[in-house]
Amino acid sequence: MLDIKTIAEIAERDRSSVLHPFTHLKDFATGKAGDPTIVTGGKGINIKDAQGRTYIDAFAGLYCVNIGYGRTEVAEAIARQAYSLAYYHTYAAHTTEQLATLSDRLVRMAPGKASKVFFGLSGSDANETQAKLVWYYNNLRGQPKKKKIISRERGYHGCSVVSGSMTGMSFYHDHMDLPFPGILHTGAPHHYWHAHPGETEADFSRRRAAELEDLILREGPETIGAFIAEPVLGTGGITPPPEGYWREIQAVLRRYDVLLIADEVICGFGRTGADFGCSLYEIEPDLVTVAKGLTSGYMPLSGAIVSEKVYKVMEEASDRVGAFSHGYTYSGHPIAAAAANAVLDIVEKERLRDRAKTVGEHFQKRLKERFAQLEIVGEVRGVGLLGAVEYVADRQTKRRFDPDLKVGARISKAARDRGLIARAMPHGDILGFAPPLVVSEAEIDEIVDLAYQATKQVM
Ligand code: PLP
Repeated sequence: MLDIKTIAEIAERDRSSVLHPFTHLKDFATGKAGDPTIVTGGKGINIKDAQGRTYIDAFAGLYCVNIGYGRTEVAEAIARQAYSLAYYHTYAAHTTEQLATLSDRLVRMAPGKASKVFFGLSGSDANETQAKLVWYYNNLRGQPKKKKIISRERGYHGCSVVSGSMTGMSFYHDHMDLPFPGILHTGAPHHYWHAHPGETEADFSRRRAAELEDLILREGPETIGAFIAEPVLGTGGITPPPEGYWREIQAVLRRYDVLLIADEVICGFGRTGADFGCSLYEIEPDLVTVAKGLTSGYMPLSGAIVSEKVYKVMEEASDRVGAFSHGYTYSGHPIAAAAANAVLDIVEKERLRDRAKTVGEHFQKRLKERFAQLEIVGEVRGVGLLGAVEYVADRQTKRRFDPDLKVGARISKAARDRGLIARAMPHGDILGFAPPLVVSEAEIDEIVDLAYQATKQVM
């Protein structure tokens, strides 16, 4: 706990110098949005602020701290690597033991026929790399027009130029001159909102696949390079796919020789109760994006995992085109690699994937028991340790609340006042949950109860 004067000084320094992501700038600058929360510590599923308040973090930071806070094994692995070698680059075939170990491990465990991993620092840059790989692959195999990338409305793939364009929510594009040309969007796979009256999940999935096919045919299959999607739609509303969706979509992609990029940034490493979202839904990707759970947020690290099919074309062309000219100063950073190895050791040793499945089943059940009957709840959904409650003004007509009422944000704030962090998702009135995978059933009960009390308080 810090004293009042120190807290005020930190807040002032922050307010006068940090450009915060996803923050209303004027409200923050003038103090209308309150003071910054100064986070000082974390242990297990809890974080602590400078005033000494403790919060249950039911969102694992930003869906990343899967092993929980304060794991000394990871801190020690980071320190050991920093003492022996804090940095060396990976250009021109330099490596470290930690990186080689991690990369080999990822190739063995990744979905699809993985061959190589390109390391970056964030999910955004990894998806930027994926776009370049799609363009590179198609140039090298003599298909220079096959460059467009299709993503989905409400998909989230990051905030950089191309990844931000793949993100299918317009408020991420507005005033930023996005989307970048050549990035297209198709409909979100959300049965609750988009199914026709009486349409089954399977029929809805077939319709979404048919719409994707129509888009490919309209644009010309020779111009479509890839389709990118999260196995479970994440930031766009935590929405598991409807029945049959992935089978139908993959059939279309194969028909038109379109690469599939599976964005496993949230789903990867156990979050859904399976190793990857791809394993859960029988997805066979050509490219896989990982980040977040890879290091549980202990260090910034991401990977663009490349299949045999794509890599072979790249290697075979290298006599003709020269070196693979893409890379960052910090690609394969040894401290981040050491953190990832220590995190994956914990995930394996503590069987966190299996835990996400069993505790996840309890979580989904409790969430439904508590919320599904409420008049202002349209849908309760999720898989594993990912969950969402979507609020509506009228259950029968599915009328949404007036956005100015900020229902989701107010419930999230009421939960926070009770010591629970559950996220108001940016799209609609949705309260999102993604607790660390080490959460216990008793803690799940507490999370669900606090969220319920917060809902009752606001509505
Ligand atoms: N892809 C998905 C599915 C994500 O959820 C995110 C971030 O939330 C990203 C990519 C972008 O990752 P980052 O914020 O590390 O750039």
